[in-house]
Amino acid sequence: MCRHLAWLGRPRSLSSLVLEPPSSLLVQSWAPRRQRYGTVNADGWGVGFWAPGREGPARWRSARPLWGDPSFASVAPVLVSGCVVAAVRSATVGMPLEESAVAPFTDGRWLLSHNGRVDRAVLPPVRDAESTVDSALLAALVSSRGVDRLGETVREVGAADPAARLNLLAADGTRLLATTWGDTLSALVTGEGTALASEPWDDDPAWTDVPDRSLVEVTPDGLTVTALA
Ligand code: GLN
Repeated sequence: MCRHLAWLGRPRSLSSLVLEPPSSLLVQSWAPRRQRYGTVNADGWGVGFWAPGREGPARWRSARPLWGDPSFASVAPVLVSGCVVAAVRSATVGMPLEESAVAPFTDGRWLLSHNGRVDRAVLPPVRDAESTVDSALLAALVSSRGVDRLGETVREVGAADPAARLNLLAADGTRLLATTWGDTLSALVTGEGTALASEPWDDDPAWTDVPDRSLVEVTPDGLTVTALA
């Protein structure tokens, strides 16, 4: 199972989100604290973010482990953004091992990350998937249905594959949407902004756990959680 995170708020460096916290995504790539499926997340990693003067999101992805990317570590302190999605990957058995199979995926407008697995046979055919990995097919389905209908799409896919795990994270530069469906998600709301993460990146007692089968929406006004089931 992969680990992912998103930030919406005051612009901050990618290193402060992904590399520096005591239980950062970097640390979670070899020592996650709450991961139920898989033990390390060494099958690639990615980050997507919005930067001033550019319309869509920029992405940096790699099929290597996050700890094996010193060039990213070198530029991460000067890459600053107010809307970020990042993920480290533990590939599901049978899925392709390649950069294009690593989250976040994008349709040019949204960034999408999937923590979980789904039987590809139950997914309706989609166009424009970035890879044949289940997560890329799911991301393309979510985009084609409209990301605003994320909750409905997750319910539909969950009904078609009762064994599916469907923790999704989406961002469009101004808003975050997320679902919990079979795995963990925590939220941290501060005066600076809101973070969502598969697991807390530090021991701040302000982190709260999102209940399973929820839809989360984050805007500059705050966070709302609604039941999906
Ligand atoms: N199924 C996806 C993959 O193979 C995501 C895996 C995960 O969440 N660990 O990449």
